[in-house]
Amino acid sequence: MAWTILAVLPIFVFLAFFRASVTSWMLAIMVIVPVVAIQLRISDIALQAVYSVLFLFVVLFGVPWLRRNIISGTILKIFRKILPQISATEQEAINAGTVWWDGDLFSGRPDWRKLLAFPKPSLSAAEQAFLDHEVEQLCAMLDDWDITHRRADLPPEVWQFIKDKGFFGMIIPKRYGGLEFSAQAHSAVVCKIASRSGTAAVTVMVPNSLGPAELLLHYGTDEQKEKYLHRLATGQEVPCFALTGPFAGSDAGAIPDYGEVCYGKFEGRQNVLGVRLTWEKRYITLAPVATLLGLAFKLYDPERILGGEVNRGITLALIPTSLPGVQTGRRHFPLNSAFLNGTTQGEGVFVPMDFIIGGTPYIGQGWRMLMECLAAGRSISLPASSAGGMKLAARTSGAYCRVRKQFHLPIGKFEGVEEPLAHIGAYTYMIDAARQLTALAVDLGEKPSVISAIVKYHATERGRVVINDAMDVHGGKGICLGPDNYLGRAYQQAPITITVEGANILTRSMIIFGQGAIRCHPYVLKEIAAAHDQDHQRALHQFDDALFGHISFALSNAARSFVFGLTNGRGIAAPPGDETRRYYQQLTRFSTAFALGADVAMAILGGSLKRREKISARLGDVLSMLYLCSATLKRFEDDGRPVEDLPLLHWAMQDALHKIQQAFDGVIQNFPGTLVRWMLSALIFPLGMRLSPPADHLDHQIATLLMQPGAARDRLTAGIYLPADEQDAVGALESALVSTLLCEPLQAELEKAHKTGKLSALEELPRIAEARDKGIISAEQALQLERDYALRRKVIMVDDFAADELRAGR
Ligand SMILES: Cc1cc2nc3c(=O)[nH]c(=O)nc-3n(C[C@H](O)[C@H](O)[C@H](O)COP(=O)(O)OP(=O)(O)OC[C@H]3O[C@@H](n4cnc5c(N)ncnc54)[C@H](O)[C@@H]3O)c2cc1C
Repeated sequence: MAWTILAVLPIFVFLAFFRASVTSWMLAIMVIVPVVAIQLRISDIALQAVYSVLFLFVVLFGVPWLRRNIISGTILKIFRKILPQISATEQEAINAGTVWWDGDLFSGRPDWRKLLAFPKPSLSAAEQAFLDHEVEQLCAMLDDWDITHRRADLPPEVWQFIKDKGFFGMIIPKRYGGLEFSAQAHSAVVCKIASRSGTAAVTVMVPNSLGPAELLLHYGTDEQKEKYLHRLATGQEVPCFALTGPFAGSDAGAIPDYGEVCYGKFEGRQNVLGVRLTWEKRYITLAPVATLLGLAFKLYDPERILGGEVNRGITLALIPTSLPGVQTGRRHFPLNSAFLNGTTQGEGVFVPMDFIIGGTPYIGQGWRMLMECLAAGRSISLPASSAGGMKLAARTSGAYCRVRKQFHLPIGKFEGVEEPLAHIGAYTYMIDAARQLTALAVDLGEKPSVISAIVKYHATERGRVVINDAMDVHGGKGICLGPDNYLGRAYQQAPITITVEGANILTRSMIIFGQGAIRCHPYVLKEIAAAHDQDHQRALHQFDDALFGHISFALSNAARSFVFGLTNGRGIAAPPGDETRRYYQQLTRFSTAFALGADVAMAILGGSLKRREKISARLGDVLSMLYLCSATLKRFEDDGRPVEDLPLLHWAMQDALHKIQQAFDGVIQNFPGTLVRWMLSALIFPLGMRLSPPADHLDHQIATLLMQPGAARDRLTAGIYLPADEQDAVGALESALVSTLLCEPLQAELEKAHKTGKLSALEELPRIAEARDKGIISAEQALQLERDYALRRKVIMVDDFAADELRAGR
């Protein structure tokens, strides 16, 4: 019996692996079942029963009309019952945006050639010139200590520069006076500014992200575009966008703010058709200075003036803040950040109908509009600002760990310090790759909703890890705030990026897999569409197609997962390259296992998956790692496969693959039902979990790479602002690194001379002078050593203040 099953199993695995058609399965079953029955020498009666069941099976599955009406029809009824209740706002969020490379990752068969064929991210000459001139100039004007500690605002000349040079109009077309930059350029600008000042980066980011300009471009009427876009591009209008309020945060669809359709008086005109608005919003970035308020509210038409429903749904309007009744409130103080953030309220503010973005056709479309625009904005702003901060942390941490010595050694040479340096280097490498790939998707016309959630979540989470590690390796230097502290503010402000544009816990637990499972899955959306179709026959046809496609897909993923688990991915087709082939193979293996896990989770948990957030989060982690790894491999290929970058690539990939294994482990261990747990474990890890985290030698290689000037370090931190001025803390650190490496042989010579009694001075500067006077070093070398001492001192020292300078209300 066992041998017979063992002989037959490979045939089924083969059929499933290659996604055999229903006909092939039927033929195979029609041959195998009788052969097995005869082999087992069962009685004639039992054999007849087997033939009868087989006949029934063939008729039920082989005759399409019967299959549709009996098999698919029954499953459709059950499916309709277990389909999770999705609110209209959730449905609109799910539908928003497009599916891109995430679709491949969900398919279990990512086409790596397709990924590598996407163009290499690049900037136009004009965009590069803007980065090299205007952005460089802006960064040079920014003194983050002055901004965050003394003024709690950007200086007036910086505000003016930002407006005059078009920073607020990066997404606005040239015909409206904007810069019309690509997403790649927009991302590069924010990334560079963020490496200098978080406050300035947020100030530039917000008008170019989800807000009046973006909404007008997509949905505005021609009159609205003409009226506002030019003024927004040139900074004559400062925009903000107000969705969040005290009683609606993550659940933004629950906003209590409302507008009622009515006739009112506006600018001297009587009986104007419009909306009377009441709102209370908080946390609104740029609200304290905004002249144009984008407002989300629920529209009601109690007197049915417009005809139709009373409750018209979430609607968006543009409100000039100069209108009577608009109260620009007090400022919030978000973790010592000085970007302007605060409250706005309005009570009974009357605006004409044409203040609604897009006019009356867009009444009630607000949530969809927001969700569609969120994908593009979230793909760019926060990944870019996180990457800017991470690059700065990588560059300065490497340099500091080489310049700063303890126990007669640069601190970065201690194994304990190598570990955080490895996180800093590899995470920065990976997140910058994801930043660029996602901006590329936007430039290719995508609105990648699931990917935007992945990249927002992981860029900000890893940004937080990197800044924490950077703080640790800097010791007290990172802790003491002041003009020379280039990390402290980024450390304080890390939670802001975690919370905004979809708070991270929610994004990981609900959005990434929750939305991905429906949007990116090759069959689920079709099944849901069929379930909602009121036309019974059409629904049955659609559902039958999707269901059997889905079954064949799931069987194939189970078989492939098992086979790939046995071979650890070996033998899977992969793009050429000895260093990367195994990574592509393992990613394909895990993409297949992910597709299997996703199907099992949806099939077993059904509607309750929405509440099983930890399972959803871990599956989301797998999808996220698959995406981050894809971006990392593409980056390596696009950069021309530089060997110096290999430690970064290896560390990032091995860490992410190990995290995939951990995430699967978490899913399997916590899945309800012993049998399902056992089955998932056997199919995904038939030989056990064999991946290890990156080895210690990679930590060492990354630490070495970060601690010396070189092409890999420059590539890793490309695009940040690097002041040449040695009076600047970062500028001094850059010079100190070069100088340290240059002067170490001379310092060793002086040390030797001191030990042998040729030099008697105890302190460094007198000893340099003594060595010069005694001819041990030349005058030029003495100057070099004196400069090195000054630079090191500047790097090592921290700011101090007179007691009353720090007193509140100074
Ligand atoms: C500095 C700053 C700037 C901002 N700028 C703007 C702006 O310009 N315009 C604007 O409209 N809004 C803005 N916001 C609002 C921001 O988008 C919200 O803070 C965010 O939506 C979260 O809402 P909340 O802070 O009320 O947290 P809550 O919604 O109360 O969430 C608290 C925690 O619960 C978690 N959580 C909530 N629901 C779930 C769930 N179902 N599953 C798992 N976890 C969940 C969240 O992830 C979070 O960790 C800003 C916020 C800040 C702090």
